[in-house]
Amino acid sequence: MKTMNFAQLVENAQKTVEKNAIGGKKEYKIDEKYFTVKVDAKTGTMPATIRFISPKEDDSTFYEMIWHHSFEVNGKKFYVTCPTTFQDKEIKCPVCIYNKEHWKEYTEKEQSDRKRKLKYISNIYVVSDPGNPARDGKVFLWAYGSTIHKKIMNIIAPPKVEGMKPKKSYNIFDEKTGKDFEMLVGLKNGNNNYDNCNFSDEGSELCDGDEAKLKAVRESTFSLKEALKTETDKIKSYAEIEKWLMTTLTGKRPSESAPKQEFQVADKELWNNEDTQKQKEPATAKLNLKEDMKEETKPATTEEDFFNFEV
Ligand SMILES: [Zn+2]
Repeated sequence: MKTMNFAQLVENAQKTVEKNAIGGKKEYKIDEKYFTVKVDAKTGTMPATIRFISPKEDDSTFYEMIWHHSFEVNGKKFYVTCPTTFQDKEIKCPVCIYNKEHWKEYTEKEQSDRKRKLKYISNIYVVSDPGNPARDGKVFLWAYGSTIHKKIMNIIAPPKVEGMKPKKSYNIFDEKTGKDFEMLVGLKNGNNNYDNCNFSDEGSELCDGDEAKLKAVRESTFSLKEALKTETDKIKSYAEIEKWLMTTLTGKRPSESAPKQEFQVADKELWNNEDTQKQKEPATAKLNLKEDMKEETKPATTEEDFFNFEV
């Protein structure tokens, strides 16, 4: 299994990539594929060491992008993948349109809450996850925000600063000399905070150079095109999203109007990051979810999902 050329990967990461989300038809449980970040309620932190790994050769670079809207109105949660994720000018998003029309009436908080937000999806290898050791040595997809994305870009394609000696690009994905990403996720105003997450000073061999393990990593690497397609396949029609938005805004949200997507717990976990969602005490999250469950048409996977998911 070949991985892609680093120079090409960097070049593609820097330009807007034409999106042709053609993927396989393989169905998989999204919650098992995705790495989730959950800060310990007692310590207020989550330590972990991960490694961003080379994408498959079919993928243009190390990430795919997804736009979404995620906010709350009077305790009612609204989450949809923004149809602009399709990168097709013909496809409009009712939430973006509504925002544009009402932007000036919004408070500053509403503006920041309701605007579309960007997520990146990449392949990672978990070196060490003390809070969840079962994930050690495995490959996951991780959906993360712009803070992390900037940290990656700054090291693989350092910005040129006038008057300063240009920094060299570093291939963090390299199996022999790449760098671990040392995470100490904290909380800031109730949101996950990634300020204390950085690449290791020194490069190191992935899986200590163990060829059998490396082969397993390459074979477990997910197709990002396929992961994107799984997300875009779930995007609801304009009318459905619009109805869901209006019923959320007016507080008249009948259960039957809910797009299925709203209730996929794994999806919500995906977006549990620094700029979109807030962490709550596990007990509260569980309780709120049980209330939400009354409206659900599809049961969630496990108790663990509820535990991680916050409302
Ligand atoms: Zn939108």
